[in-house]
Amino acid sequence: MLTRRLLLTTSAIGIAAAATLRWWSAPPHAAENFEVTHTEDKWRKLLTRDQFAVLRQSATERPGSSPLLYEKRRGNFACAGCDQELFSSATKFESGTGWPSFWAPIEKAVGTTQDSSFGMMRTAVRCSRCGGHLGHVFNDGPKPTGLRYCINGLALTFKPATA
Ligand SMILES: [Zn+2]
Repeated sequence: MLTRRLLLTTSAIGIAAAATLRWWSAPPHAAENFEVTHTEDKWRKLLTRDQFAVLRQSATERPGSSPLLYEKRRGNFACAGCDQELFSSATKFESGTGWPSFWAPIEKAVGTTQDSSFGMMRTAVRCSRCGGHLGHVFNDGPKPTGLRYCINGLALTFKPATA
């Protein structure tokens, strides 16, 4: 038996590395380690259908649809997926966009990734604890940061200050 066999190997690494966030794409969080992780089935049980679409599939709610647009009390806005507090009412402002808007997150509460969906380069904002998609951040916000965190109300719950 002198037949020489040629072994070919293929690699999917290039394909995986080229993956970008897209509308209704598979969750981009799978390869990362977050403090709070669940299977897709578990997330579907924990969240409403609309919350799941935003937090786990990066959907965007209809502008003007969130009751949190009109939330004026002092307190913190927390992640609807894992309860981590993300934004203080002290940084909330009326942006006129129809989405709850903030000029800064609570320290270390959010992370960002580049999002090229819809042919736009945007910076997506995610909860640092569970990786849930929250919205996007833009550079046209008010002082002191000049940032506008444009957040889906569906991704948030409000906790009024007790003191
Ligand atoms: Zn979270």
